[in-house]
Amino acid sequence: MSDKTYGFETLSVHAGAAPDPATGARALPIYQTTAYVFEDADQAAALFNLQTVGFIYSRLTNPTNAALEARLATLEGGRGCTVASSGHAAQVLALFPLMAPGAEIVASSRLYGGSLQQMRNTYPKFGWAAKIVDADDPENFKRAVTPNTKAFFIESLANPGGVISDIEAIARIAEAAGVPLLVDNTLATPWLCKPIDYGATLIVHSTTKFLSGTGTSMGGAVVDSGKFDWAKSGKFPSLAGPEPAYHGLNFFESFGDMAYTFHSHAVGLRDLGPSQAPFNAWLTMLGIETLGLRMERHCANAQKVAEYLAKHPAVAWVNYAGLPDNKYHQLARKYLPKGAGSIFTFGVKGGYDVGIKVVDSVELFSHLANIGDAKSLIIHPASTTHRQLSDEQRVAAGAGPDVLRLSIGIETVDDIIADLEQALEKATKK
Ligand SMILES: *Cc1c(COP(=O)(O)O)cnc(C)c1O
Repeated sequence: MSDKTYGFETLSVHAGAAPDPATGARALPIYQTTAYVFEDADQAAALFNLQTVGFIYSRLTNPTNAALEARLATLEGGRGCTVASSGHAAQVLALFPLMAPGAEIVASSRLYGGSLQQMRNTYPKFGWAAKIVDADDPENFKRAVTPNTKAFFIESLANPGGVISDIEAIARIAEAAGVPLLVDNTLATPWLCKPIDYGATLIVHSTTKFLSGTGTSMGGAVVDSGKFDWAKSGKFPSLAGPEPAYHGLNFFESFGDMAYTFHSHAVGLRDLGPSQAPFNAWLTMLGIETLGLRMERHCANAQKVAEYLAKHPAVAWVNYAGLPDNKYHQLARKYLPKGAGSIFTFGVKGGYDVGIKVVDSVELFSHLANIGDAKSLIIHPASTTHRQLSDEQRVAAGAGPDVLRLSIGIETVDDIIADLEQALEKATKK
């Protein structure tokens, strides 16, 4: 199937999943197997030497996972993909081939809270340092570069503040610094934004969210654009130097634009081990078939809910890039022309007490810590996800006492609005 000639929705249904050649099964089979029988000793040796492609052991590769990898690579406009057990596992896997003790990442200060935890508290234990910068001014990335910088890390649409990064400007600075730009595209999904078109090198996803789409399956992915020259700067010896685990094989010399993806299976998944379960890959494939339909509805509903809340007397502010007075509205029009996503925050007058009364009063919304489900979700970050922080840290993270985060689902929009209406009324009743 030639990918170039089909539209996004067609590829969402077909890419990576032809009828099963052995049985004719039209749906993708779940290859629930740990290992694969070798043809003979020579083929086994060639597989272990990476001289031929095939399946050895499902920690490294699995045919159901391979179908998801092909679909995600196609939808993002990339060359290869590696799926992982969660979004966070994918982030570690994505950085692993680039980093070494003493190496530095420059990352946006407005990342998903869990990603900032990784950067600030866990990566230093590997000897990796993260410089956290305000991404609203792309020049901050340039100022943070040192000879040890190996990667830039941003989110296309950041969770939860609705912050949109100027991907093209930051990609230009990354290119000048000789480092890859990693973009977490979880909240936008490739239906809203394809960061590789703007110069991103690597895309990471929590497929747990919109891609699987129904809150059933943890998963993550790394998509490689295949466009980065890993040999040029001498900064990436794991990819463009001799690999001791494979008799000194040089991945970039041997595999060219597939070097990064082969390395992340043959070394990353093999040695770190965060493989995705084939059943989760299968559910995510099923989810992606309706990605375009769902995102269209998610965005349309979120736009109407944001407009409704912006006029509500009990609401102090609404932070949604789809509203014309939002700080990121112009960037949204450039990078997310089909809609500003379905996750946003708003502030209630009356602060903390009113905030927790709203989450206790909703009926249709689910009060929980997830996003990107077909169901509408709500959380009060100050009393939950951001509880461990100080008041000042909470405000800096966009999680002050009055903040509520919504992930708008695909239900009938009037029902979503009616639920917020009754919850706000109960919460503000004297
Ligand atoms: C949820 C999320 C992650 C982490 O993904 P998990 O699948 O929960 O490990 C990373 N980045 C963003 C933007 C997220 O929303």
